[in-house]
Amino acid sequence: MALTAPGSTRRASRFSEFVRVAPSSAIDPFPFPCHHALVTAKELQARDIVQTLRSHGFTAYLAGGCVRDKLLDVEPKDFDVATSARATDVQRLFAHTVPVGAQFGVVLVMDDGNSVEVATFRSDGIYLDGRHPVNVRFSDAHADALRRDFTINGMFYDPVSEQVIDYVGGQRDLAAGMIRAIGDPHARLAEDRLRMLRAIRLAARLGFVIAPETFAAIQELAPTIGDIAWERIGDEVIKILTEGGAKRAFHLLSESRLLQAILPEIEALRGVEQSPDFHPEGDVFIHTLLLLDKLDHPSETLALGALLHDVAKPLCRAQQGERTTFYGHCEKGAEMAVAICQRLKRSRTTWERVAYLVKNHLRLLSAPEMRPATLKRFFREEGIEELLELARIDALSSSGDLRPYEFCQRQLAELGPEQITPPRLLSGRDLIALGLPPGPRFKEILNAVEEAQLEGRLLTREDALAWVQQHRHNMYNERN
Ligand code: ATP
Ligand code: MG
Repeated sequence: MALTAPGSTRRASRFSEFVRVAPSSAIDPFPFPCHHALVTAKELQARDIVQTLRSHGFTAYLAGGCVRDKLLDVEPKDFDVATSARATDVQRLFAHTVPVGAQFGVVLVMDDGNSVEVATFRSDGIYLDGRHPVNVRFSDAHADALRRDFTINGMFYDPVSEQVIDYVGGQRDLAAGMIRAIGDPHARLAEDRLRMLRAIRLAARLGFVIAPETFAAIQELAPTIGDIAWERIGDEVIKILTEGGAKRAFHLLSESRLLQAILPEIEALRGVEQSPDFHPEGDVFIHTLLLLDKLDHPSETLALGALLHDVAKPLCRAQQGERTTFYGHCEKGAEMAVAICQRLKRSRTTWERVAYLVKNHLRLLSAPEMRPATLKRFFREEGIEELLELARIDALSSSGDLRPYEFCQRQLAELGPEQITPPRLLSGRDLIALGLPPGPRFKEILNAVEEAQLEGRLLTREDALAWVQQHRHNMYNERN
């Protein structure tokens, strides 16, 4: 069988780095003699693996997303190798391997902390549950291209002949900026419904459009997305939020009706009007998407915080004459955020932090009026950096008033960690040494000492001891 689809193979000019480093012979003992600096260790490892497999008589190519990214001149997140070798061959040929899906012919080849996924050419069997193929049949490169999701993800690259091997029209769609399912869109998306979210994530991240038939299939199948595991949906939502293009992705999610199926609470933000003096930008959906647009490689928790910060506004909306109010939306929103994070199968640490961000996202507004001790304690809260960033993008996405944010940043810098988190002046042991009876009152006393310390009224341990001595009767008599 020919290695290349008729008329579809040509040397891609965008593969400049490949062309520069690739040797012209398959059995060059020094495959990358002089241009190591141009490629990452991961890429070198993947090329090495291809060389080794080749020298043992197997067919082997770089495959899928890494070919797409190299053609786009983007650094791939990971490199995958597809080969005619079986998992047992791969395990025999490489010193350090981990079988991750031996039944699918997938083996990780490890080297120096890096790993490359090496998979046997296969055509997937029938999908019964919309998740995993029931069985796979090992096959050739052509069949392996056809089981992949989108044309731009279905290409191979031969680093030996420096050729792109394209059975599916991936290069044409890459040039056109088009996400197109390989084969019949409806059948391919129904086979694994996660592909609907992958299409939107890739389109948004790369700034591509989704081919009309593929998009129509997504719209038709969107209500059935819940048939796949929510862990997979949750992981994909996080990638959509954090990889870039989240605003566009959420427009596409809404348009495709996927949003209604996975995050109806976000779809419900559409048309929820707010007071134009505070929110000249428009309804809560538009406002939320503006925040998503300002995320720059965010953590999972900040991204979810931005998405969910106003999620309770539809529930808390009330009209007071001319004014629209949303009293209680922070607290209610925090509750809803927990439920949503749990639906998306996020960890407890994640949903606790997201709930914190949602609940406190307006607290900065009162920072200038806080007493020094309150302000310092606020700055000590876990998650404060993310809260400040959330407040910044929230302000930029509405009134544009950055004064509360700037006030906090200024105070943080001026006070520094010494004043925000000074060493404790006293401990419970000191109170015992003073002859105070241990009990729940200790916490209150130590708290009062800290409060006075943060207000600048107590500076030394001696002052603190003297202060407790002076007030001990009050403290114990007050309630005795
Ligand atoms: P990313 O840049 O986010 O890693 P990717 O396209 O490389 O995107 P991977 O999950 O790394 O995604 O998958 C590598 C390749 O495996 C894809 O390019 C595609 O060819 C194939 N693939 C991944 N997931 C699916 C799927 N659900 N259905 C069909 N093919 C898939
Ligand atoms: Mg990848």
